[in-house]
Order: sequence, then C-alpha cells, then structure tokens
Amino acid sequence: MSKPVFRFAPSPNGHLHIGHALSALLNVRAAVALEGRFLVRVEDIDQARCTPELEAGMFEDLAWLGLPLDEPVLRQSEHFPDYRAALERLQDMGLIYSAYLSRAEIKRFVQDTEDSGKPWPRDPDGAPLYPGDTNVLSESELGKRMDSDAPFTLRLDMGKALARVGAGLTWQEAGSEGKALFGPAETVPADASRWGDVVLARKDTPTSYHLAVVIDDARQGITDVLRGQDLYQATSVHRVLQCLLDLPEPRYRHHRLVLGPDGRKLSKSNDDTSLKSLREGGLTLTELRRRIGL
Ligand code: GLU
Repeated sequence: MSKPVFRFAPSPNGHLHIGHALSALLNVRAAVALEGRFLVRVEDIDQARCTPELEAGMFEDLAWLGLPLDEPVLRQSEHFPDYRAALERLQDMGLIYSAYLSRAEIKRFVQDTEDSGKPWPRDPDGAPLYPGDTNVLSESELGKRMDSDAPFTLRLDMGKALARVGAGLTWQEAGSEGKALFGPAETVPADASRWGDVVLARKDTPTSYHLAVVIDDARQGITDVLRGQDLYQATSVHRVLQCLLDLPEPRYRHHRLVLGPDGRKLSKSNDDTSLKSLREGGLTLTELRRRIGL
C-alpha cells in the first residue's frame, strides 16, 4: 500500500493561532506514526488579505513548531489557471451561474423575509442560502448589471450538481484521536443540499476555498485530510466537487477545536492566542503542547 500523505493548509490572512498549531502537530504526528509524508500548502487565494509579511510570519511560526517542511511548498496563488480550467469544466456541464447580489442585498432580503414571518434557510455555517437574483432585482436592474462591469460571484447550481452525482454520496470519517491515529472509518452521508448554491469563484478570483481545496488535495496526492471540526460539514461540498471533477476521494478526519475562554472558535484577529505573540512572550513548545492538550 502506498504511504499516506497528510497536509496542513493554512491561509496567511492573519496570524496563526494555537488552534493551527494543534492541527499542524496532529498532522505531523499522524504522518510520522504512519511513516507517511507531511506537506504544507499556502492557501492564499484571497490576494487582498494574504500578504507576504503574514506569510513570512506563518513560516516563522511553523519553524518554531519544528515542522518538517517538504519543499516545494504549494502556493495556491500560483495555480489560478488550474482552478480556472476546472471552473470551465463545471461551466461546460451547465452547473455554474453568475450571481449579482451583494452581501448587503442578500442580508436585506433575508431580513425582510424573516421580518414578514417566513424563515429563511441557512447553511451549516449559519449563512443564508442564496435568494436568487430574480427574487431580489428587477429585470432591468439585473440586465444592467450583466451588461456592465458589475461584480458577481460564480455559484454552483447545487440542485443540478446533485442530480448529476446521484444519491448516496458519502465520505469516510476515520476514527477518534488518541493512540489509534486513524481508527476504523465510519461512512458519513454527504448532504450538500444544505449548503445551497456555494460560491466557486468571483469576478476577479477564479476560485473559492471549496474549489481550490479539492483540486489541490488531488494534485498533491493527499490520502488523509486531517483538519478542524469546523470543516466537517463542508466535506459534503468537497465530495460533490470531487465527483464532478473525477478527483480521488481522500479519507477525512476532523479534530477537536481549541476554543477561547468564551467557548468560541479562536480568531486570527485575537492577539492573545496568536503563536507570534505567545512565542515572543516566551512560551515554550512544551507549554504550548500542554495548553492544547497534546
Ligand atoms: N485554509 C483553511 C483554513 O485555514 C484550511 C483548509 C483545510 O484544511 O481544508 O482554515
């Protein structure tokens, strides 16, 4: 059997925090225990928020954590033509449409709908599903936007995509953390309909996280995706895209998250838990490991 390949795929759009350290160290531990490889991938598709300074800081954090870096590191911003090509394949299948509503317009529509007593569906992350341009904009306004340089997103028509991949899509979620790094896998039904018409690209960016992650996991031969529990539900979307694009299916395992004192997910904007400020403040690796329960 070929050796397992793990990856840690941070986005340098802020400073890494102790939750990222848990994810990186769990991946290294699994790769070492199973005599596999450990790859780092820079997920920097958001060119406005990902800066060279933040990326350099991220590599300082990774060096401090003692991660074995397998070169060359894949940087997503260098692969835009590949994402564009995948998007075109989906477009040729008739699964992509341009969507012109701004975030503020979606918010207002959903607010008005809910104020009138009708609930509006939300995705597993709590974001409202896309209302559809024609439910919000007049025909002339929509036509004007289409004919002009107005911003838009490219969305997957989830209904059509699911009709194409068929029923019964699943993923393999491997066992619990602890000594048995990858215990027997459980088959989880992939229910991507809950996500609605996810964004796969924007006017000026030929990919979104969902599209880039499945392409790069395949490109890098990732066999085992070990990442935070916050991405558990997104795996349904990833399975749909893997099926549509004929990409291999990795095994998944979603690990616990390190939560803040308020019980919420850590944020990159919080300096108290950033690796940079903690290590500059004298935290040792042993203390960090204890703090994140490793
Ligand atoms: N880039 C993502 C993040 O920083 C991780 C993506 C993944 O592991 O699938 O949250």
